[in-house]
Amino acid sequence: MAQPLEGTGALLSVVVPAYDEAEVLPAFHGRLAAVLDGLPMAAEVVYVNDGSRDATLVRLQALRERDGRIAIVDLSRNFGKEIALTAGLDHARGDAVVVIDADLQDPPELIPELVRVWQEGHDVVYAKRTEREGETWLKKFTALAFYRLIQRVSHVHIPEDTGDFRLLSRRAVDALKQLREQHRFMKGLFAWIGFPQAAVAYRRDPRYAGTSKWNYWRLWNLALEGITSFTTAPLKLATYLGLATALGAFAYAAFVIYKALVFGEPVRGYPSLMVVILFLGGVQLLTLGVIGEYVGRMFNETKGRPLYLTKDYYPSDIRAE
Ligand code: UDP
Ligand code: MG
Repeated sequence: MAQPLEGTGALLSVVVPAYDEAEVLPAFHGRLAAVLDGLPMAAEVVYVNDGSRDATLVRLQALRERDGRIAIVDLSRNFGKEIALTAGLDHARGDAVVVIDADLQDPPELIPELVRVWQEGHDVVYAKRTEREGETWLKKFTALAFYRLIQRVSHVHIPEDTGDFRLLSRRAVDALKQLREQHRFMKGLFAWIGFPQAAVAYRRDPRYAGTSKWNYWRLWNLALEGITSFTTAPLKLATYLGLATALGAFAYAAFVIYKALVFGEPVRGYPSLMVVILFLGGVQLLTLGVIGEYVGRMFNETKGRPLYLTKDYYPSDIRAE
């Protein structure tokens, strides 16, 4: 446990993945530090520098000089947010861990509320957005459609309108640390571990500075990740699609044979032939594609590589027990 401190003696860790966030970090840490000062417990902040190309690491080190609560995990390259988050969780030692974005879209001021609900006995306290400001209707619409879809096809309940901003109890973090898959759909993993969960509503602000690293291609890939790591329903879809096509083709063949026998058949028939070939070819390719998505992921998992490599680790001054 943490330094003997006022109040509960518990330690809160805050995990912050940061990729090219130099512009925002000083403002972010200012707001976060003010919130942590007001908490009745000790706190550490684990910043994960996810291979940033800008001055993020320098800024973090400068912040760490002045604030002993800061630890920095410096990854060897950019591994992506999901893995950066995992690296942070691995290094967090708190009795509870808050995961928050560095771009101030998640207000640090909500942390005391998350802590309060945790102390009431919930293991996962997620922040639920009531408004999405500074986002286009298209992003809102696609996000909604995605949640609806994944809800229907998978067995885990992934709450809508939540990001990664949440608090996890120690046992929830330990459970999560056992899930070492390469393809990490964090929202799904958070939901998969179960434990008593609760929501706290908040308004999501537009990004403070810098630019979002997300675009539709990345979002599409995230959606694919979410679906393939939480359900094999698309494989079933491929099966049924194949079955339906085969039945259709069979019926059509019977019809063609019947027609040829009863009415005779001149050389024609080229159009129907082409239609059938193209259709069957299309369905086969689609089915193969679906299977390929899963095979590719199995390939990645079987390599058994570590999730990330750490270049440097700068611990905080907070003593662990
Ligand atoms: N991030 C990261 N690695 C990446 C991309 C993003 O660590 O490869 C961090 C980023 O610094 C920020 C958080 O993940 O703290 C959320 O990123 P962003 O704001 O770009 O995503 P959005 O809010 O648009 O979903
Ligand atoms: Mg953001």
